[in-house]
This record gives sequence, structure tokens and C-alpha cells, in this order.
Amino acid sequence: MLHSLAMRADILPLCDEHYRTMEPVLAPYSADYFIEFFRCTDKFCHRCFGERTGYITPQRGATPVLTPNQPNCNRHGRPMFIISLDRQRNNVTYACPEPDCPERVVRT
Ligand SMILES: [Zn+2]
Ligand SMILES: [Zn+2]
Repeated sequence: MLHSLAMRADILPLCDEHYRTMEPVLAPYSADYFIEFFRCTDKFCHRCFGERTGYITPQRGATPVLTPNQPNCNRHGRPMFIISLDRQRNNVTYACPEPDCPERVVRT
């Protein structure tokens, strides 16, 4: 039986298209395995952040396409999510979903 990886609860991911806060969703993946992911709170946006996939747009019946340039944590190898956007410098900061991981990646 596979277990869901722990996701930190102190910060929430932002959508990589809208920079809106995403909300956590627990989706049944199989009878005894739930996958945790986040989805954009914009109702017309279908972007999700999955603990194993990073940012994806899920499509019914199709394998989700991974986002090119999705950063991964150097320490944990986990897909990182956006925690802040600096509109003046036009850069975004990514954090690792591992609880208490201090790794950050800044992208312009
Ligand atoms: Zn969005
Ligand atoms: Zn990490």
C-alpha cells in the first residue's frame, strides 16, 4: 500500500498561471490510496499542483503532461511550488513541499 507523502501545512501553493492561492483536495486514486493535490481557486482554471507531479492540468482519461522547467528540491527531489510573486522584480519563489524544508528557488 502506498502512502501519501506529507505535505507541509504552513504555506500553500500559488497557481503558476494566476498566482492565486490553491486549495487542498484529497482525491481517491485507488481503493486504498489517496493522492493529495492542490487546485487553483479560480473556477475556470484547471491547474493543479500534485505532490508527485508538480504543476499539471489534469485531463480526463489522459496522462497529465508535466510542466517543463518544473523545479525540484535539491534535497528531496520533490516538485516545488510557487509561494510568492514579486511583481516589481518579476520573479517567483518556489518552495519544497517537504515539511520544514528551507530550500528555495527563484525564477524570473
Ligand atoms: Zn489558476
Ligand atoms: Zn526539500
